[in-house]
Amino acid sequence: MYSKKELERLRIEGQKIADEMAREREEAKIGREYKVNDVEITCVQCKHNKFEQSKALLNTRGLTFFDIEWLNDSATTLICKRCGFIHWFAREVEEIKSDE
Ligand SMILES: [Zn+2]
Repeated sequence: MYSKKELERLRIEGQKIADEMAREREEAKIGREYKVNDVEITCVQCKHNKFEQSKALLNTRGLTFFDIEWLNDSATTLICKRCGFIHWFAREVEEIKSDE
């Protein structure tokens, strides 16, 4: 059996996790801001500045054919949340935290 105090602590912990997850979901929906070399990334198509980050594998036969194997095995892609344009980076991008 949990004591009342423990239950209260668990409830608060649970609420914190739920809040964090809700915030994460909300951020994922509107997208996040990123920078490379301290330059903020804006969409080349529509100038929006919020993206969804993901990874894409590059070591495919197609890319080998195009002689860009040096790009290593993964790239960072940023998908514009407004127009969907996919930006490719052969390196890590840095997220700009809103509380900075
Ligand atoms: Zn865009």
